Amino acid sequence: MKAADMSKAVEMSKLFKKIISSRDNISVRLDRAVAMMAEKTQADAAACYLVLDDNYLELFASYGFKSGLNNNISLRVGDGIIGGIAMSKRTTTVENIWQHPDFLYRAEAGEEKYKSFLGTPLIRWGRAIGVLCLYKKELYNFGKDDVEPLETLAMSFAEWAASDEMREYKNAFMAQRGQTVRDRYKGLSLNRGFGIGPAVVHRRRQAVTKIFAEDKQAELERLALAHNRMNSDLDEKFNSSKLGIGEHADILDAYRMFAKDKGWYNKIAGHVEGGLTAEAAVERAYEDMWNRLSATQDTYLKERLHDLRDVADRLLGYLYGDTNEIKTNDLSEMIIVAQTMGPADLMDYDYHKIRALILEDGTPTMHVAIVAKALGIPVVSKIKGIYKEIKNGEMLAVNGDEGIVYVRPSEKVLETFRTKIAERQQQAAQMAELKKLPARTLDKQRINMYINVGLDFDLDYIDATNCDGIGLYRTEIPFMAAEKMPDVEHQIAHYKRLLDKADGKKVVFRSLDVGSDKLLPYWTYSGEENPAIGWRSIRITLDRRAILRQQMRAFIRAAAGKELNVMFPMIANLAEFRDAKETLMLELEKEKRRSQNIPAKVNVGLMIEVPSVVFQLDAVLQEADFISVGTNDLAQFVFACDRTNNRLAERYDVLSVPFLRIMQDIVTKADRAKVLCSVCGEMASNPIEAMVLLGLGYRNLSISGASFGKVKRMVRSADTGHLADYIQTLLDFNQRTLRPQLTAYAHDHGIEIF
Ligand code: PEP
Ligand code: MG
Repeated sequence: MKAADMSKAVEMSKLFKKIISSRDNISVRLDRAVAMMAEKTQADAAACYLVLDDNYLELFASYGFKSGLNNNISLRVGDGIIGGIAMSKRTTTVENIWQHPDFLYRAEAGEEKYKSFLGTPLIRWGRAIGVLCLYKKELYNFGKDDVEPLETLAMSFAEWAASDEMREYKNAFMAQRGQTVRDRYKGLSLNRGFGIGPAVVHRRRQAVTKIFAEDKQAELERLALAHNRMNSDLDEKFNSSKLGIGEHADILDAYRMFAKDKGWYNKIAGHVEGGLTAEAAVERAYEDMWNRLSATQDTYLKERLHDLRDVADRLLGYLYGDTNEIKTNDLSEMIIVAQTMGPADLMDYDYHKIRALILEDGTPTMHVAIVAKALGIPVVSKIKGIYKEIKNGEMLAVNGDEGIVYVRPSEKVLETFRTKIAERQQQAAQMAELKKLPARTLDKQRINMYINVGLDFDLDYIDATNCDGIGLYRTEIPFMAAEKMPDVEHQIAHYKRLLDKADGKKVVFRSLDVGSDKLLPYWTYSGEENPAIGWRSIRITLDRRAILRQQMRAFIRAAAGKELNVMFPMIANLAEFRDAKETLMLELEKEKRRSQNIPAKVNVGLMIEVPSVVFQLDAVLQEADFISVGTNDLAQFVFACDRTNNRLAERYDVLSVPFLRIMQDIVTKADRAKVLCSVCGEMASNPIEAMVLLGLGYRNLSISGASFGKVKRMVRSADTGHLADYIQTLLDFNQRTLRPQLTAYAHDHGIEIF
């Protein structure tokens, strides 16, 4: 920032602090802050919008507009220029708003006096929570001198906008407006994918009102009839559904067995003998079981309890004469909204038509979620209150990737979703085709293609891609998702599950890589000046050795009898690698003494992410079983360019001489030392970049599951010999990037990079 802009920014920031710490009420302070902002930037008008309910922007303060406007103007995130800023999280300047395609004229706002506009988002934890706006009457090109001070002010403003004081103020405002209807909900994603369709609200359980039977015999007959009908319907349903084989089919089979279970039936009948109605007896039988099992920590038994609840509900339905015939024939697609649901309930609908499932309560291991997953249905759970608020037929759009549900979505959201859905369908079709084909180049080079795993979902890619294994398991992701530091037992369970899923394929466990942009919610961070080059990753775990030791112990125990591959991130020199490796080896020794059940083989490697280690690579390669290049961090440090800073996003290219020379150096040295060398950074997931890696000599790529198909297509259409020759000719070029040449090369040689 220029000195003049800096001093303007400092002055505004000081004034801002003074205004917000005054004793005036909050709306007065907001207006004063906005007026100050206009005055100091020589703007004719200014405004502050804050995001409410995650979905719309409300005008909370203004200057230069009609009075009485505050708290009376709102717009959706995504709509108009201002909504667009909240959506894109980017500062926007417009010389003439009247000519801007997104400008939404709102007569009530009195914007007609103004022509030029500058808006900047208020960002907190990566989310836009508001927008600051400046206007001028004349045509004016807002430049850097205007943008930078406003963006600086926006940082302090965002902090205030996210404060408790402001939260209370916004809540009070919404309550006063009687606002309860929401149109965007955030929940927990249980299965990826996008879906659009009208809501079908799954019925609630019926309460048992009649407790005592008048005629025991008649009641027993009623029970037997309902039980028989339920079971024959289930047989028919599950036999006729072409569900294939797999965990979901096992679940449905188990459910069917459960429904037929004699012991359960006899318990119910016993309660009827004792004088209860069939309905009350079903409830009593459930309660007996619940009393016995609900305190258990055993997940298997807990799931059984869920099944029992579902079967009991189904039987109650038959007793009430409601046979779960769900009338959705006239719908061609639907989104099911339920408080909770059993796997068989889902099958009451024509599952070909289900575009998404929303559960108010739900966990990833819940059977309905597993079945939905097997059927490729996006699932979002843990959205309190949605079941009551959504009405049958209401249009919904579900983003299963992020766990977001839009109610009555705008045309813009629908359009984005339609594109996503089409993309996914195309990807799935390609993936299914490619899965059967070998990852071999035209010149018969076999490329080992692994996947990167972080979230549970990624595990699905193991089968979907038929990959060679997991080249990078980011263990910090489950740590980040947990509410407290997972203990050794939890970690073991997690890692075991992963190894089971991998089913003998190679798995590379990376030790905890937290800090910088990956924060653990239960840790307090001291707020470093430069977190990306601060106390993070291996630096933390070497200093907090107990964490590293525990993780190593968990790896060793989880991989008992199997091959264990451990990789350390952010290693800067040989000493650090030795130190980390020694911790693993000590744990291995301890485990040997404790039990004979240790991993069959242990391979220890490191990530090449910090440039210094490249200068000591020959020595490191003597002691490492494998290396993997983390191009995301390596590029950030090689170019001294923050990987999270949007402004720098396109400034430096990995497809440029300095970076490619480093990459070539690494693989050449590793090949010479006969040490396995892979790339697990994003470079391997981008087809054109991965193409260059092949040309440089890389034969092991670890790719994000979603990009696997694209990269495999590239691999199968490339000739590594040709590529190697061509890339050598480029290494003396001086351009900022070699991307245009490489794209043209791919195009001319029929290499599929799109
Ligand atoms: C990398 O830095 O390239 C890498 C794979 O690690 P992460 O992206 O998790 O930092
Ligand atoms: Mg990294």
